[in-house]
Amino acid sequence: MNMELSRRQFLRTAGAGIAGTSLGAFGFGGVEEALADAIRPFRLTNTTEVRNTCTYCSVACGILIFSKGDLKKGEKAEITHIEGDVDHPTNRGTLCPKGAALLDIVHSKTRLQYPMMRKAGSDKFERVSWDVALDRVARVLKDDRDKNFIAKNNDGVTVNRWVTTGFLAASATTNEAAWCTYKVVRSAGMLVFDNQARV
Ligand code: SF4
Repeated sequence: MNMELSRRQFLRTAGAGIAGTSLGAFGFGGVEEALADAIRPFRLTNTTEVRNTCTYCSVACGILIFSKGDLKKGEKAEITHIEGDVDHPTNRGTLCPKGAALLDIVHSKTRLQYPMMRKAGSDKFERVSWDVALDRVARVLKDDRDKNFIAKNNDGVTVNRWVTTGFLAASATTNEAAWCTYKVVRSAGMLVFDNQARV
């Protein structure tokens, strides 16, 4: 949804601004608050609004993300505001402090945006492609499982355990993705399995 500011709305807001500032200078303090209230509905003017889900924990609160920049015109979209979705049944517009800080997280310079790998013997992480990262993960998982898989315990009972590797799953996945994750992890024999939502 693109929010446009009509000429009439702009003139009304600008007029309120001039009047409010002038009256405020004469000591009518409440006028400035009224001015802020008048402007607030337009703070997201000319932004594009999309619905999304906070990825921080399994509560999965609904959020509204506002961005500036028209992709259809070849412009780069920049996220300018994030708030709770009042229509979402889980959070009804509220957000916890982590959710309320989402805008800072999106723009954080330290945010990880691509796979990084520290090669053996190196003291620094380097950017690698997803193919390299996934091949590497698959390789070390396979090697570790081949080496440490326990098919039977000391009493000869079949246990099919793999306890030298653990799996920490994401919390904001769909039920279907969580089901697939569970099946893959457990069918590989992995016992150490946890989820970030427990934090
Ligand atoms: S981290 Fe906070 S805002 Fe995000 S889903 Fe969890 S409770 Fe909701």
